[in-house]
Order: sequence, then structure tokens, then C-alpha cells
Amino acid sequence: MANILIIGAGGVGRVVVHKCVQNRDFFKKITLASRTLSRCKELQDEVGEENIDIAEVDADSVEELVTLIQKVKPDMVLNIALPFQDLTIMEACLKTKIHYLDTANYEHPDEAKFEYKEQWAYDDRFKKTDIMALLGSGFDPGVTNVFCAYAQKHYFDEIEMIDILDCNDGDHGYAFATNFNPEVNLREVSSKGKYWENGKWIETEPMEIKMIWDYPQIGKRDSYLLYHEEMESLVKHIKGLKRIRFFMTFSKEYLSHLKCLENVGMLGIEEVEHNGEKIIPLQFLKTLLPDPSTLGERTNGKTNIGVVVTGTKDGIKKSIYIYNICDHQKCFKETKAQAVSYTTGVPAMIGAKLILEGKWMKKGIYNMEQFDPDPFMRELEMQGLPWHIEEL
Ligand code: NDP
Repeated sequence: MANILIIGAGGVGRVVVHKCVQNRDFFKKITLASRTLSRCKELQDEVGEENIDIAEVDADSVEELVTLIQKVKPDMVLNIALPFQDLTIMEACLKTKIHYLDTANYEHPDEAKFEYKEQWAYDDRFKKTDIMALLGSGFDPGVTNVFCAYAQKHYFDEIEMIDILDCNDGDHGYAFATNFNPEVNLREVSSKGKYWENGKWIETEPMEIKMIWDYPQIGKRDSYLLYHEEMESLVKHIKGLKRIRFFMTFSKEYLSHLKCLENVGMLGIEEVEHNGEKIIPLQFLKTLLPDPSTLGERTNGKTNIGVVVTGTKDGIKKSIYIYNICDHQKCFKETKAQAVSYTTGVPAMIGAKLILEGKWMKKGIYNMEQFDPDPFMRELEMQGLPWHIEEL
């Protein structure tokens, strides 16, 4: 029976709230806090006042966070705000001795870096304080790491290659919109690509490498090589790995909009002067684009995210494909969110549940593949994200 504090009432936060309320026999007390109280109130009205408490907090302020945590006295804080808040929330957890979980690695507001270095550096302090942090408990990172750990445990003596394949085939009817926070999403897809081979990182131009993959229940789609954060931890924790890559699908229409926005400077994260005021182009673009949390109702189609793992078992080389298929409209009916938020929010709830049940509890900072994948895979089946395995 657990008491949790969820920070962030956006698209993913909404799914975490719904899923925790569905597991109310375990999550005895749920508090949702965010920057804009009205968004928390909206969710509270939806799931019932008797099920969650709400609060306003600026998660950029360690002081405000500490005051809130001391008041709520949770067993764990789920950081479902933005990657910019990871370090302040971790600091507040250290000061109050409370376990921490997030779904995305720390990002500098003024520099797109995507690395775990700064969060991993907290390991000693978390161990000394007797608390744990689970990093990246979403889908990718998150479930994709668990899929790799599952492949390692049950299918291979040694893994040589991993391809992570992320397809969102949803159609929301807009010419251009992002499936989650535009600031975070557009920084990710406009950055240089990078993959790991034979002990070193190889950089590519954005969208330079393309392959066509046939996604079950979706079909063949153009898939582009991107850098994605889970590769950094998988390289460290999957022994013997020789190559790891990440691919994401994009339509031609999305890519031509992206190129145009980039060419005119709208993806910039440095301040520019506009009519005597300083603005950040990407933040302004976020204001113009549809709010991802409003896309759910109008999004049709499916997501398919998975991993292809190649390696050897008993001296024989083989490849397996583990994936989940998620239907946007089914997710919306259940949580009023589209599948990208759903596939992130469900694993966040599962991560918190496994930690607080003691199944995934260890002091220090951890990534998902460092734990026994079996209880997580069982929960995925039960909590709305069933998975499939094929031998290729
Ligand atoms: P949204 O932008 O929809 O929601 C973010 C929420 O955090 C908003 O409610 C926002 O408040 C709140 N917030 C932002 N800054 C602060 C702050 N300083 N203090 C308090 N609250 C704040 O984002 P998403 O829900 O789409 O994404 C949430 C997280 O999930 C992100 O970190 C994202 O990177 C991650 N993610 C991970 C994925 C994975 O598979 N691992 C996939 C998709 C997303 P306000 O309402 O005032 O704006």
C-alpha cells in the first residue's frame, strides 16, 4: 500500500494518474502536483476527488518541492514533468529521503545533450541516503530496455546487435504536430543521429540513414536513425554488445515541415530579439503548435515499438523481435490520451509499483535493464501493454 506524489499534469501525467487510480488497491494515496493547478483540477474532476489530492508546485524550485514533499510525505516521487526538472526533483528527493522515478534523462534548457552522465553522478549520494532512483521508466527509454533484458535472460548467451524500432502510425489530421512536448520532441528529432558500433559512437547528419521496416499490423514504413538515450545505458549494461541503433518512422510531410522550420530558424533554442523582447524560437513554436494533450480525440491508428535482438544461444546465431502494438483510439477511450502518452504513462506506474512492492528496490541510481525483467513483462500484459515475440 503506497503513497505517491506525481509531478506533471500533461499528456503522460494524465495516463499515470488514471493507471494509478485503476490500481487503487496498491496506491492508497495519490497526489498530483503541477505548475498549473487548473490542469490538476481537471484530472481530479475526471477521476474523482476521493481518489486524488492536487497541489501547485514549481518543480524548478528545490525549496518548493521540499515543502510539498514534506507535506505529502510520499513513499516515492514520480517525475512526469519535463526533462529540465530532473535534477531539481532529484535534489528535493535527497533532502527529504524519498525514492525517485522519471521517464526521460536530464536535459539542459539551453543545450540539447541527451545524456545520463549528470544523473548517474548522483549514485553515491542516493546510496548514502538509502534511497533509489529509477531512470527512464517510459516506453523508449523504458520498456525497450526491459525487452532487451528479457531477451538477454531468456533467449541469448550473448547479444551482439540491437535495433530499437519506434513507429507511430497515428493520424491526427493536422499538417504538423508533435506527439509529446514539442520542445523536447523537436530537439530530439532535429539533433544529429548517433549509433554505437565496435566500441565507439558514430555520428550522422540528422535523418541521414534510412531503412524500410515492415511493422506488424502497420506495414512498411520509412524509418530514420536517431540518437536515443536508452542506447547509452544499454551499451553499458548489455555485455558483449557490438552494435546498437535506434530508428523512428516519420512521414514525408512531417519531414518537409521539419526541414522548413529548421531552415527558417524556428527550432532554435537560443534567445533572439523580437520587437524589443527576447524570445526563444522553439518556445514560440510550441505556443503555435497544437497541444499534444489535445491530440488524443482526433488520433487514429496504432503505434508499434519494439526491439530486434541478434546474438547467439548454444553456439547458434539467431534474431528475435519483441514489440508492443497500441491503438490510439483504445487508449483515448480509457484515459483520454493518445498512445504515445499511454505507452509512457503505463510503464511509469509499473516502475513505481515494482519498486514499492520491493521487487525492484535497490539503493542508488538505476536504469531499467538492471532489474529482473520478468515481473515488469507480466505487469505490461496486465496493465494494457501486451507484447509479442517472433523469431526472425
Ligand atoms: P507535457 O508538456 O504534456 O506535460 C508536462 C507537464 O509538466 C505539464 O503539465 C507542465 O505544466 C508540467 N511542468 C512543466 N514544467 C514544470 C515545472 N517547472 N513545475 C511543475 N510542473 C511543470 O509533456 P508530456 O506529458 O508529453 O511528457 C512528460 C514527460 O514524459 C517528458 O519528460 C517527456 O520527455 C517524457 N516522455 C517520455 C517518453 C518515453 O517513452 N520514455 C515518451 C514521451 C514523453 P503546465 O501544464 O503548466 O505546462
